[in-house]
Amino acid sequence: MEKTLVLLKPDCVSRSLVGEVVKRIEATGLKIIGCKMIRLDGKILAEHYAHLSDKPFFPRITEFMKSTPVVALVFEGEDAVQKLRDECGVTDSTKAEKGTIRGDLGKDIQENLVHASDSVEAAQIEIRRFFKNSEIFEYEKRK
Ligand code: ADP
Repeated sequence: MEKTLVLLKPDCVSRSLVGEVVKRIEATGLKIIGCKMIRLDGKILAEHYAHLSDKPFFPRITEFMKSTPVVALVFEGEDAVQKLRDECGVTDSTKAEKGTIRGDLGKDIQENLVHASDSVEAAQIEIRRFFKNSEIFEYEKRK
């Protein structure tokens, strides 16, 4: 069983696509074990996008991610990390395959609706970044 972090970005929230995106992810069989709405600040975004801090578009994505609250989710299931990445499609929505969230619903490379952890190690760090232990309800433990 793996866990992975998902952020439904400001474009997803403002375009009222939260339900549609969650429906698609749940249809893969993964289960929600954490869920909340949060406003991201510069500090948490600097950590979350540290790998992009030297890119020219870094200030733009930071402003974009702060523009509305986001929905943060933790999903659990077999191969959760890869399943979520496959469901999202590649970063640039205009290049993402049809049938993926970004390919069907995303606008461009920035407004691509969803963040999903890119490895099991990143998922562990990112879940800790956005959730307290008491906010995670592991599937086996909550039955
Ligand atoms: P992913 O979200 O697919 O893992 P990255 O970690 O490379 O991709 O980038 C993080 C986010 O930064 C992307 O989801 C996207 O919103 C934004 N981004 C990436 N590349 C660009 C770019 N060239 N121009 C504008 N925004 C970008």
